[in-house]
Amino acid sequence: MSPETQQPALQQLLLHVSNYSNYYKRLFREHNIHVDAIKTVADLAQLPFTTKDDLAQYNDDFLCVPKSRITDFVTTSGTLSDPVAFYLTDSDVERLATNESESFRCAGGSENDIYQLMTTIDRRFMAGLAYWMGARKMGAGMIRVGPGAPFLQWESIQRFSPTVIIAIPSFIPRLIDYAVANEIDFTASSIQSIICIGEPIRNPDFSLNELGKRITSQWDVKLYSTYASTEMGAAFTECGEGKGGHLNPDLLILEVVDDEGNAVKDGELGEVVVTTLGVEGMPLLRYKTGDLCNVYYEPCSCGRTSPRLGPVVGRKQQMIKFKGTTIFPPALFDVLDAVKEIDLYQVVVSKNEFGNDEITVVLPMQLQTSAFRETMHSLFKSRLRVSPALTFVTTEELTFRIYKQEKRKPEKLIYI
Ligand SMILES: [Zn+2]
Repeated sequence: MSPETQQPALQQLLLHVSNYSNYYKRLFREHNIHVDAIKTVADLAQLPFTTKDDLAQYNDDFLCVPKSRITDFVTTSGTLSDPVAFYLTDSDVERLATNESESFRCAGGSENDIYQLMTTIDRRFMAGLAYWMGARKMGAGMIRVGPGAPFLQWESIQRFSPTVIIAIPSFIPRLIDYAVANEIDFTASSIQSIICIGEPIRNPDFSLNELGKRITSQWDVKLYSTYASTEMGAAFTECGEGKGGHLNPDLLILEVVDDEGNAVKDGELGEVVVTTLGVEGMPLLRYKTGDLCNVYYEPCSCGRTSPRLGPVVGRKQQMIKFKGTTIFPPALFDVLDAVKEIDLYQVVVSKNEFGNDEITVVLPMQLQTSAFRETMHSLFKSRLRVSPALTFVTTEELTFRIYKQEKRKPEKLIYI
């Protein structure tokens, strides 16, 4: 689908928000924008961006239907801010199902697959619901085990022979460790591939990062990276080539922009901006995700011509200025994932008395030796040029800090 074929859906969207969204009605009035003047995808550039702050500040003003028409109420994860509410109508829920079934197909899935879901399906989380509906729509099966619980994960794998796992990739080394400790022959299991969510498994050059290598060096499974967010209600999913997540052009218009808001060129890094097509409840125009990715417009070797996004290098808001160096959290995770002895860690970002960023890595107590400190110090220095502070707590304490009951995802990164 080319920008021309996205045009009717874009015009429908503009008409919809200009009639029903209090936020966009106000914005169009203030900027003297007439939606009939925006005919093509290129014309979109006449509109201002919508930011995370706009969404947080005017949350319910984005809603285009009466609340009585809402089918599902979800919230964003809100790592750095309060979670924002998202409202889905029945047709939005159906759109999610379409997105996910097409995502699964892009990652080599078919009706013959059985998926084991290792993420939350409730807790106001959009993705878990989308996975279940997508598998159902495609005609595949699903085992909803949810996060954690390695015993139940392996019992389900042995009992139902799923072919695909859907998980946050940093959980997989824990799953493998559990299998090893309990003499489960995980290499002989039915699992063929893993749909990885929430964390990158590749470097910007598409080679596997330390976490990706850690998984595949122990287990002969194919990893598929995905990138998605509640705001998009759609996912960028890798095909078998593993060269970035494909855009679904029926559901999103993608722009990738520099700091001045201009489109970056093929292969360059920029901020991901999306316009949601076909959304009824809370559509967004030129929404700045804050996520920094490389974009590729060249056709993929799989034959698809849709643009692709490389791994999320970082989130704009999560940029850390540490001892004169700019660091994004994924780079810190990648160093920690490279160390065999480290099973658990938490990165704590704080401000010191001068208002500068400080980074502390919390690790399990048994690693606290001067030799280990020395190794970590030189590893960080060589990879990132700076070395964060290390502190050590018991494994129980660290597990408690990372796997919080009220959180949907493990807290590898916190701000204090
Ligand atoms: Zn492809």
